[in-house]
Amino acid sequence: MRQLLLGLIFTAAAVPAWACQLSLEGPAKQGGMLIGSVPAGSKVSIDGRSIRVAPDGRFVVGFGRDAKAKTKVVALTPEGRTLACPVMVAKRQYQVQRIDGLPKRQVTPDPVAIARIKKDNAAIGRVRKLDTASTDFAVPFIWPVKGRISGIFGSQRILNGKPRRPHNGVDIAAPQGTPIVAPAPGVVALVHPDMFYTGKSVMLDHGHGLSSVYVHMSEISVKHGQRVGKGDEIGKVGKTGRATGPHLHWGVSLFATHLDPMLLTGKMPK
Ligand SMILES: [Zn+2]
Repeated sequence: MRQLLLGLIFTAAAVPAWACQLSLEGPAKQGGMLIGSVPAGSKVSIDGRSIRVAPDGRFVVGFGRDAKAKTKVVALTPEGRTLACPVMVAKRQYQVQRIDGLPKRQVTPDPVAIARIKKDNAAIGRVRKLDTASTDFAVPFIWPVKGRISGIFGSQRILNGKPRRPHNGVDIAAPQGTPIVAPAPGVVALVHPDMFYTGKSVMLDHGHGLSSVYVHMSEISVKHGQRVGKGDEIGKVGKTGRATGPHLHWGVSLFATHLDPMLLTGKMPK
C-alpha cells in the first residue's frame, strides 16, 4: 500500500525547486504517514522543526486530519549538503457520523466523570510525548482484528444530536472475545483497566513518537513495559467504556497528531 512518492536522489546542482531530494515513501495525504530515508548521520527538520533520525537515516513524517496542503522536509547531511523535499498533502473529504442512544452521562459527562476523563487524557498524553529510539514505526502494519469496519478516520461525530470531536481512529466490529494482535512490533506503554471513554485500554510505542491505541477491550493480555512482536495477542475485543457494541477502536498517532490507521494497512483482508 505504500506507493513510492519520489524515491530518486538528485544531485544538488541539477534540482528544480519542486523536486524531492530525499526518499519519502507512503501516501502524502491528510491522515497519512511517510517513512523517510536520508544518509546516515543527517539531521532532518519538518517545516523548520527538527525531528529524530535513526542511526541508519530513517525517520517518520505524519499528516493530521486537517493537515495543510504543503509541508517541507529538509535534511542536512554530515558533509554539509542540504536536501529538500516539498510535499504536497492531498486534502480529503470526511463523513458525518451520527450515533444515537448513548447514555446521557457519556455524551455530557458530570463533574466527577470530567475529573476522571482529565486523568485518563493525561495518561494518554504522556505516551503521546514519548520519543524513543525504536524503529518499529518502519515495519509495515497489519490489521489488529479482522471484521466489518464500522467507523472510519476523520468522521465528524454527532452523538445523541450533539456535535463532538472527529473520530480519530478506525472501528472494527468483531464478536466479544475476538483476539486483538499487535499490528506492528512495539513496547506496551499504557495498560488501563477502566478509562471513562475507552474502558480497558492498551497503548503501544513504535518509536520516534509513533504510538497506537486499542480500546473497549474485554480482556488485556499484556503488561506495561512488555515488548510485543507483530501478530502477538494483546487482548480481546469488548465493549468497555463508551461503546454501543463489541468492537475495537484502533488509533495511531505521531505524537499528538492522529493518523489514519487504514492508510498504514491497506484494505481489510477477506
Ligand atoms: Zn472509534
